Amino acid sequence: MPYQDPSFIRPTIHPWRAEFADAALEQRFLHHVMPERNAQLKASLLFAAFCYVLFGVTDIATLGLGPTAWMLLGLRAGVALVALAGHAAVSRHPRSARVSELAACSALVAALAVFMAVAWFQPSAMPWNTMSHALLLMVIYVIFPNRFVYALAMGIGSSIFFAAMLFSHFPLKTDDLLTLVLLLVCGNAIGYIAARRYHVAQREQFHATVLLQQLAERDALTGCYNRRVLQRGLLDAELAQARRKGTALSVILCDIDHFKRINDTHGHASGDVVLDKFAGLLKAMTRASIDSVIRYGGEEFLVVLPQTDLAGAQALAERIRAAFAASATPAVDGRAMLATASFGIATVPERTPHPPARYETLVDAADAQLYAVKRGGRNGVRATSVAA
Ligand code: GH3
Ligand code: MG
Ligand code: MG
Repeated sequence: MPYQDPSFIRPTIHPWRAEFADAALEQRFLHHVMPERNAQLKASLLFAAFCYVLFGVTDIATLGLGPTAWMLLGLRAGVALVALAGHAAVSRHPRSARVSELAACSALVAALAVFMAVAWFQPSAMPWNTMSHALLLMVIYVIFPNRFVYALAMGIGSSIFFAAMLFSHFPLKTDDLLTLVLLLVCGNAIGYIAARRYHVAQREQFHATVLLQQLAERDALTGCYNRRVLQRGLLDAELAQARRKGTALSVILCDIDHFKRINDTHGHASGDVVLDKFAGLLKAMTRASIDSVIRYGGEEFLVVLPQTDLAGAQALAERIRAAFAASATPAVDGRAMLATASFGIATVPERTPHPPARYETLVDAADAQLYAVKRGGRNGVRATSVAA
């Protein structure tokens, strides 16, 4: 999502779904949280499998070791198997949100179905089972990482089913029935509030982290990277990659010609428009997720072109030069502004045995070429190879 996109600066979180309204942003968020979410889910699945088998003891205590207790124990073992199968699926597909949701939902649906069966065969323990169901609601809403809407559907659906069982099959006094139903209503209300808060807070935290990261590494006027990304190692990493793989790497240092004059003639605001236009051209004419455009100084930009040889970089710079020189930019007062730019290129050719160790060497070489273009009259391109 582009840095200056208002829907990213202030994204909407859907009130009912408790997810980002923007599907692409929600996907990014899921990708970001998936490792931690799946670790929590796997622990929850193991915990559920263990507890379901362990609580078989209460069936035996209530019903004795007869055929019904054995059947319930079998069903409990079934829940444990579904949970363990979910655990295995999540381990096999650690990046899939779908698999994660499917594992959580199938274990919970199995657990709820067996819980209803257990409650059905133990009419005398109905008040205790209602309390257990209220605890299960906390597991659904809070403990198992899942989509909020799925937790809501399972929480409310299972409570309606349980309340219907209470009304139709168990002879309880009206005041007891009312208390138990209110317990389920409160369980859902508390679970709903806690889960919704958690989902929203998680997304707000993710958004703040990404926004801060973008503010730290992007230039506010043009949306290009700022110099901090160079200091943080963007170009050093590309150099290391070129060294490892023996691929070519080029950088183009671009500088708008007589930019001071544009400011002096049309005003600083119009100068900003030209800067933005030039940056837009650089971004549009380079490869989106391969090349990087960095605002190196006031009206100077550095373009990093991995796997690009000298001829390729030269051809690209020439295309950008021609496009910029040919298109007039409207100043804030409506007058047309024509500007040109100069380009200095430095390339580490393919299979260079010892490419420069520091990015500054490459940028200095490009700067020397740029300086030569400026001296030669501006509005041109010059290139050199850097091979130590
Ligand atoms: P040359 O062709 O030799 O590069 O000349 P120049 O005028 O482009 O270069 P010089 O370094 O003399 O001037 C650069 C100007 O860029 C001076 C500065 O005020 C202006 N500038 C730097 N940053 C910004 C900015 O963000 N917005 C605007 N409007 N101007 C800026
Ligand atoms: Mg300049
Ligand atoms: Mg300059």
